[in-house]
Amino acid sequence: MMHPARPDRELFCPRCMQARVASWRSELEEHQIHGITVASQDTHYVCTACGEELDDPDVEDSMVAAYDEYRRVSRTLSPSEVRRIRERSGLSQVAFATLLGMSPATINMFEHGSPIAIKEDCMLRMAAMPGAIEMLVRLHGDRLRPRQLPRGWKPGPRPGSAPRKA
Ligand SMILES: [Zn+2]
Repeated sequence: MMHPARPDRELFCPRCMQARVASWRSELEEHQIHGITVASQDTHYVCTACGEELDDPDVEDSMVAAYDEYRRVSRTLSPSEVRRIRERSGLSQVAFATLLGMSPATINMFEHGSPIAIKEDCMLRMAAMPGAIEMLVRLHGDRLRPRQLPRGWKPGPRPGSAPRKA
């Protein structure tokens, strides 16, 4: 995505230790994310006195554009898609992560914009398939406290358990 050029502005330069006139730059930069190279338009300012690179005060997180490009190229889930899959399961972040063998912090980061590697993306997509959460709860539900189970959950036989003799 191209940004319209912006005029010079005064910014504090930590090298000059004072406010300086800085000029705006927009450059295509390459990032390695989960083994995939993506190019995104990164913006910053340059101190006209010493050449120091200064953060663009209008850009909160310079990686957001790169992460968006990574998701487009790798066709991995967006933060809101991860949240939708998890919420449809009726599970909290902690319970959902526990069933998938992932850390709750990882699920939380995915729901807040961290890029997802292909392996985790596949796990999350498969967890969204009908019956997947039921299967995981039967298999690993003993790792959850009763109140962590999906609402309306009815216990059943664990998969692979021997059929009951009549
Ligand atoms: Zn400077």
